Amino acid sequence: MAIRNIVKEGDDTLAKVCRPVTEFNERLWVLLDDMKDTLIKSEGVGLAAPQVGILRRLFIMDVGDGLVEAINPEIVLAEGEQREVEGCLSCPGEYGITSRPQKVRMKAQDRYGTWFYVTGEDLKARCICHESDHLDGVLFKKRAIRMLDPSELA
Ligand code: ZN
Repeated sequence: MAIRNIVKEGDDTLAKVCRPVTEFNERLWVLLDDMKDTLIKSEGVGLAAPQVGILRRLFIMDVGDGLVEAINPEIVLAEGEQREVEGCLSCPGEYGITSRPQKVRMKAQDRYGTWFYVTGEDLKARCICHESDHLDGVLFKKRAIRMLDPSELA
């Protein structure tokens, strides 16, 4: 396992649409394990493959209730709205208030290719939406109602 370098805003990789994962093999598992180490080290709640330079449709997240590995994720239900502060490991030091669904249901494959469903509210819903956006080359700033001034972060 290894820590991977996190790509920062301005890098082309973050603006591209990712391709589906088709092979559920050792190479994928190494990537997922590395992403887990990278997420823990950076103290984030979610990390998408393009953030480590891989243009494939997968992300991992842990909002405090255990690690979720989401491969080829699709949001199948979105309800309500929440407006909360959001940031991104690819945009260090920047935060904004985004508009996101209050609750989402996601369908995804696990590391062996088996489909599963996850439902998330509040932070978990935000995280699912934020990471899914990365797979389509969209950063949270595009969803921000407004960005926070550094003086508001103290
Ligand atoms: Zn992000």
